[in-house]
Amino acid sequence: AKEQATGVQRYDAANDTNTADRLELLGDLRRAIGADDQLSLQYQPKISLATGRVTGAEALIRWQHPTRGRMAPDRFIPMAESTSLIRPLTSHVLEMAVCQAKKWADRGTPIPVAVNVSTRCLLDPGFAAQVFGLLYRTGLPASLLRLEITESAAMADPDRALTMLRALHDGGIGLSVDDFGTGHSSMTYLQHLPVDELKIDKSFVQAMTDSHGDAVLVRTAITLAHNLGLSVVAEGVEDDATVAALRELGCDVAQGYRFARPLSTTDFDLWLADYRAG
Ligand code: C2E
Ligand code: CA
Ligand code: CA
Ligand code: CA
Repeated sequence: AKEQATGVQRYDAANDTNTADRLELLGDLRRAIGADDQLSLQYQPKISLATGRVTGAEALIRWQHPTRGRMAPDRFIPMAESTSLIRPLTSHVLEMAVCQAKKWADRGTPIPVAVNVSTRCLLDPGFAAQVFGLLYRTGLPASLLRLEITESAAMADPDRALTMLRALHDGGIGLSVDDFGTGHSSMTYLQHLPVDELKIDKSFVQAMTDSHGDAVLVRTAITLAHNLGLSVVAEGVEDDATVAALRELGCDVAQGYRFARPLSTTDFDLWLADYRAG
C-alpha cells in the first residue's frame, strides 16, 4: 500500500495480493536455499573472438519451484536483492560455482567461473573474507573465480565498494562490470575501479546489426574499455552477423546463444567436448 501525504496507509487489494505473493515466494526461496534440490546453476561459455577458445563460463541460477515450476531469475533475484536473503543466496551460488570450477580444474580443463554479485553483498564488509575463505577451503586458485558487478552497485556507496573491489582484486579475483550501457556510466569513476573486464549488455548487442545507434554504442564501449586496458565481452550474441560485426570492432569475447545457451554441468561438458572436437 502506498503511503499518502497524510501518512495514512491506503488499502489496495491488488497490491496486497502482490505483497502476500512476494512474502510467500521469499519464504519459499529461503527454504529452497536450505533444501538443496531446487536451486542449481547453469553455465554459459564465453568465447574468445580472436582464438575461438573458451575463456570462461558464467554461472546463472535456476530455481525449480516445487509447485510453480521453473522460475526465471528476473522474477526472484530482484526480490531477494530487496531483502537480506540475497546474502545466503549468493553464498549458496558461490559455493556451487567454486566447487564446479574446482572440478573442472582438477580434471585438467580449468575454466574460470563468473558469479553475479549484487550490491548488497558487495557492500557487506565480511564479503571478501567469505570469498577468500571459500577459495581456501576448496583449494580453488583465485584466478579461476570472477565476480560480475554492476556499475550501480559500485555507485551506491563508491568508497565502500572501492575498498571491497580492491580487496577482491588484490587477492587475484577477476572483476567484471556487468550490463554496461544500461545504467548511469561515469567514465571517471570506471577509470578508478579495479576491474579487468567490461560486459556490454545484450540489449545493445542484439540490436547492433539493425540499429546504427546501438552499433555506435557497442563501438564506443569497446574503445572505452580498450583505452582503460580492459577486456570486452559482448553478451547476447545470437547470430553470425553479430559475431562478424563484433570481430570487426575488435571485441575480445562473446557470450550468447550463437555459441551455447546456459547449460547444466553435464550438458556443458558434452558441449565442450563437441566444441573442442570442432
Ligand atoms: P545477466 O547477468 O545480464 O545474464 C545474462 C542473461 O542473458 C542470462 O539470463 C542469460 O541466460 C541470458 N542470455 C545469454 N545469452 C543470451 C542470448 O544470446 N540471447 C538472449 N536473449 N539471452 C541470453 P538469465 O539466466 O535469465 O538471468 C537473468 C539475470 O538474473 C542475469 O542477467 C543476472 O542479472 C541475474 N542472475 C542470474 N543468476 C544470478 C545469480 O546467481 N546471482 C545474482 N545476483 N543474479 C543472477
Ligand atoms: Ca552477468
Ligand atoms: Ca545483462
Ligand atoms: Ca546483471
